[in-house]
Amino acid sequence: MKPELFLVVTAVICAAAKPLNEAAQRNKLLLVSFDGFRWDYDQDVDTPHLDQLVLDGVKAKYITPPMLTMTSPSHFTTITGRWVEDHEVVHNMMYNATTNQKVSHKETLTRSEWWDNGVLPLWITAQNQGLKTGSFYFPGGGANYSGQAVYRSLSEESGHPDDNETEWRQNIDEVMSWFSEEDFHLVTLYYGEPDNVGHAKGPDHPNRKKIIMQIDRIIGYLREAIIRHDLSNTLNVIISSDHGMTTVKKRPQVDEIILNKYLNLIQHASFEILDYGGFGILTPRPGKEQVVFDALSKAPNLTVWKKDEFPESFHLAKSKRLPPIVVVADLGFNLNSRFIVYVNKGDHGYHNGEMDMKTIFRAFGPDFKKNFVSEPFDSIHIYPLMCKLLQIKPEAHNGSLSVTEDFLLHSGGPSRARLSAALLLLSTLLAMFSPL
Ligand SMILES: [Zn+2]
Repeated sequence: MKPELFLVVTAVICAAAKPLNEAAQRNKLLLVSFDGFRWDYDQDVDTPHLDQLVLDGVKAKYITPPMLTMTSPSHFTTITGRWVEDHEVVHNMMYNATTNQKVSHKETLTRSEWWDNGVLPLWITAQNQGLKTGSFYFPGGGANYSGQAVYRSLSEESGHPDDNETEWRQNIDEVMSWFSEEDFHLVTLYYGEPDNVGHAKGPDHPNRKKIIMQIDRIIGYLREAIIRHDLSNTLNVIISSDHGMTTVKKRPQVDEIILNKYLNLIQHASFEILDYGGFGILTPRPGKEQVVFDALSKAPNLTVWKKDEFPESFHLAKSKRLPPIVVVADLGFNLNSRFIVYVNKGDHGYHNGEMDMKTIFRAFGPDFKKNFVSEPFDSIHIYPLMCKLLQIKPEAHNGSLSVTEDFLLHSGGPSRARLSAALLLLSTLLAMFSPL
């Protein structure tokens, strides 16, 4: 081969293999979570802004949260790309099954000893690679990891109202100024609705539709704010959630579960968290594990598991923190311990295969395709997508970029279209250089 031809061929091959993103600027990323946004909540309400997002970006038909379908475990899977058995945030409440200490969900949000179990969340990984990150109320953002804090983190205080629309807008304005004036690369923004309304009123109540319309308005406000802050060409946005919601079944429709009818809890368990929706945990007293398992197995409308016999698809068996016995109620049943004290009309914590536990995924911005509807996927795959968008090296994780890569305009690897174009160019050049 002639030397000049060799150079041309080499250049063409390199151009074909080079990811487009390498030359592109690094765009910013906003991850927004609306707690407890069931996958179909936008289907019986007028949501013009969410509808517009389908045209302007990517929508998944729904996504599946990890087992456990609870706020802290699920959010932490999204931000780490790890199953719950690996990150060990196994409950909304911090607890110690030996000392019987229990800490409420809101208080747990700033307790590093609950969150920091050797798995680094995205904020810290991004910071270690030179990026500036922030967390606005996002679960896990208020803790330290190996001694490192999120650069800017706001944690919601107990009793803080979750549904104030004026405040929702102010929070967006603040986050936008972090991006535009302080050059943040990654911010996670959390809203406590529609979870609160879903619990208090149930997913079928008119107030749930009202709060979805409010969320729709705030998405419209977010899109205006992005334009106002001149971030349209540099900010990618992912909107997601942690789990769905289902109507709690009550008398006379069903016989509610009272576990103490089947098992004397005081006698047989040294630790328990029950009365917490559809998910319960127990530590049997020494030598009582089989008795507890057998007794609860007789109770209707629930499934009792020994931790080491969990199905692999739960990704929970390796957890050291989960007690030996885990109880999952059938959809809509609550696990009451001794009395029916539970007042919620809606709940979650049920099996993640239930459609009512599925949640949403939307994305838009300079790196996303438009008008792209994706098949359902597991929320664990959001993490490698976020790393790809931020152009950072991910930690070890359980997700796969191949699930979401199609959402992007430039997937990074040598795409089939780019390779074909390069080969066409190459054959043309070879024809030009070849002797007649
Ligand atoms: Zn939640």
